[in-house]
Amino acid sequence: MTRSDQPPLGDDRPPKPRPAPVPDHDSAPYWQGLHDGTLLVQTCEDCGHVQLYFRDRCLACRGPVTNVPASGRGTVYSFTVIRQNYSRPFRDWIPYVVALVDLEEGPRLMTNLVDVDPESVQVGMAVQARFEAVSDEAGIALFTPVR
Ligand SMILES: [Zn+2]
Repeated sequence: MTRSDQPPLGDDRPPKPRPAPVPDHDSAPYWQGLHDGTLLVQTCEDCGHVQLYFRDRCLACRGPVTNVPASGRGTVYSFTVIRQNYSRPFRDWIPYVVALVDLEEGPRLMTNLVDVDPESVQVGMAVQARFEAVSDEAGIALFTPVR
């Protein structure tokens, strides 16, 4: 008997594409920026707070925010190595790294580390963003070690 969370043995269907974000009013510029190869963050026009993810107002003071390009540089705050995932978009990537990356500008985001041996990933490792379009209106930021 096969558990419902596992594919049947011999499931050789092709992988599905990576799930794409569905942009909303606030997040559309962020996803479009990633699609076009730019990681954007928001800075507050009143207090200078830098934030991700995109919101209508500053989280610190409710002031107006401006979208600005980030450097794409960051460091690994934490990570885990995924060794089991039967979902078709992900199963062919095993093992892969899910990480929290602290951007040089301050915000922390969840991402995948790519082009890296999962066994070599370390907290504090310097990483750099690269971009992958996942729909006509959205991209994602993946990170690779700075060599
Ligand atoms: Zn503010």
